[in-house]
Amino acid sequence: MQVSRDFSLKERLAVVTGASRGIGRALALELAKRGAHIIAVARATHDLETLDDAIRQLGAKATLVPLDLKDMSAIDTLGATLHERWGKLDIFIANAGILGPISPVSHVEAQVFEEVMFVNVTSQWRLIRSLEPLLRQSDAGRAILLSSGAAHRVRPFWGVYSASKAALEIIGRSWAEELKQTSLKINCVNPGATRTAMRAQAMPGEDPETLPTAEEVAARIIHLASPDLKETGRLFDVRQNRFLEYHMPD
Ligand code: NDP
Repeated sequence: MQVSRDFSLKERLAVVTGASRGIGRALALELAKRGAHIIAVARATHDLETLDDAIRQLGAKATLVPLDLKDMSAIDTLGATLHERWGKLDIFIANAGILGPISPVSHVEAQVFEEVMFVNVTSQWRLIRSLEPLLRQSDAGRAILLSSGAAHRVRPFWGVYSASKAALEIIGRSWAEELKQTSLKINCVNPGATRTAMRAQAMPGEDPETLPTAEEVAARIIHLASPDLKETGRLFDVRQNRFLEYHMPD
């Protein structure tokens, strides 16, 4: 059952990674519209500042955290700083990610392989490790991990990205299982093809106008941040607008 998209996030604190553009930026604005204070994480400082202006215009507040997610100690410091200043976190949106090369698996350079795995998997684990104690302090902690249909579909040349998103989903599902007796709800989401820089990189020949915008997609994801959400450990598919079942025999 889906909860209403019309809910308040006043007094709620939300970390959004990859908030500088695309789906992350649109999700940050959806959260801000509902009154959440946004901790906006990305490398592009100028884009974060533009987001800050947009959030202020909505009457909400942001704290900008220019940070490269490959910097593990910076991720640890983020958790420690949030702990000192607020002592809790209500929403964590693990959105930042990179596509890497669309290339035969055997041709991928070692350094490139490692970078995709580092940003899409290792950094996500490190964020979870740094932020979980804070999320557990919230009475309605919510984590949303941006996965992809590529985690479930085998396509030539997409092996590295697909593997990274499959790993992220398994980490998310394990995490949700570990915490299912708590109020923290953790879900993955497949946004589907969305009009962003990453999609243009993946499909240069495609007409972007045929795709939903990041704003449209974010509006369909936001209910996963609702304090009324009941689901955990699930995969929400934006195009189908429903949670999908995982078919895994025990
Ligand atoms: P974009 O490429 O438009 O944005 C990616 C974001 O991630 C940027 O804000 C970027 O910020 C941030 N980021 C990347 N690397 C780092 C890093 N090392 N440190 C900090 N931030 C980083 O991607 P989308 O908006 O398209 O994608 C968002 C999520 O949705 C991704 O996880 C993607 O895999 C997933 N997805 C997207 C689909 C699509 O069609 N667009 C389809 C399926 C899944 P900056 O460069 O400023 O650091």
